[in-house]
Amino acid sequence: MKSSFIPLSVPNLKGNELKYVTKAIEDEWVSTAGPYIESFEKEVARYVNVKGSVAVQNGTSGIHLALKALGVSNEDEVIAPTLTFIAAVNPITYCGASPVFMDSDQSLGLDAIKLRKFLEEECVVNGNNVINKSTNKVIKAIVVVHVFGNMADMEGIMDVADRYKLPVIEDATEAIGTYYTDGSLKGKYAGTIGKIGVFSFNGNKIMTTGGGGMIVSNDVELLNTSKHLSTQAKIDPLYYTHDEVGYNYRMTNIQAALGLAQLEQLEGFIKNKKSNYKYYQDKLESISGLSLIPFRKETRPNYWFYGMVISEQYSCNRNELMEKLAKEGIQSRPIWDLIHQQKPYRERQAYQINYSSKLLNHVINIPCSSNLTEKEIDRVISTLEG
Ligand SMILES: *Cc1c(COP(=O)(O)O)cnc(C)c1O
Repeated sequence: MKSSFIPLSVPNLKGNELKYVTKAIEDEWVSTAGPYIESFEKEVARYVNVKGSVAVQNGTSGIHLALKALGVSNEDEVIAPTLTFIAAVNPITYCGASPVFMDSDQSLGLDAIKLRKFLEEECVVNGNNVINKSTNKVIKAIVVVHVFGNMADMEGIMDVADRYKLPVIEDATEAIGTYYTDGSLKGKYAGTIGKIGVFSFNGNKIMTTGGGGMIVSNDVELLNTSKHLSTQAKIDPLYYTHDEVGYNYRMTNIQAALGLAQLEQLEGFIKNKKSNYKYYQDKLESISGLSLIPFRKETRPNYWFYGMVISEQYSCNRNELMEKLAKEGIQSRPIWDLIHQQKPYRERQAYQINYSSKLLNHVINIPCSSNLTEKEIDRVISTLEG
């Protein structure tokens, strides 16, 4: 019998999705106004324990608005990791600013030690500004990404950021539900530790609204600015008066209906993903040269994506392994190419990138959907053994 395809990460829509979306359609509230939008904003803010949130079209537009709200503009620079999805970086360019690329540490998030070293050795502080000595430009902010749902070293990063008074934008697009269980940030959720955080509800994320995103913050002014910009910067709804150049980034009521139903199930999704992660981990112990990237110890991660490291001890290289999996109908994906080496960003500054380069040819993501079964994992494992 030919066995079926095992995808990398697919939506799981068995809760109240159909019910809520049907209601939105019956009520004929399908666009950027409607009761589900505000309920979804309220519920997400409550879940991660922040003052408020702004629902947007996707994670990318959320990051764009977060940068705008923080005043990032023409000729500014923003520190960002090179090891991530390019949507964490492109919004910096949308603002007319440039990224300065940093390395990552073993968590796959921004390396706090190199960040400090860069600011100490390569920058000068001039009044309220941090100036990059090699470009003479002002560094305005830091973008941190919680890669695969694993918390970046927020204790280390916030310590440096506070010292230089640089606002941190958390790209928590992959990490809704991840929080610290120990240490000085105990109880804090990914996305709520810096100045402003962004979630994504794209189809491959742990919860989905088809496409969608959410900005979260404890700074009400930043939230107000973000919402204002997301709705064309309109100050008078009748006469259509606008006070700046805004965007059409507001989430729709249908997306929010999906989101509410997904949020109800998020803790269940995390539970399944955690148990599948452990199941993989146990089975992989007997395969020499393969191991899963661990999640940060002092946290409860959301276990979104499983990163598997392929070392020299394994019987074949990364690309051969991916082909082997594909032949068995098992989807996998290599870790991203580094952004500072890609065409739009080759001319940008990149500071001491070593660890990220080392990972490049040795990491893949393996199936991790929240509805993945142990039987399916057994099939993945037997292919890895073969
Ligand atoms: C998914 C993702 C985004 C963008 O989110 P969209 O909703 O797809 O626009 C940004 N950064 C990272 C790291 C992501 O994984």
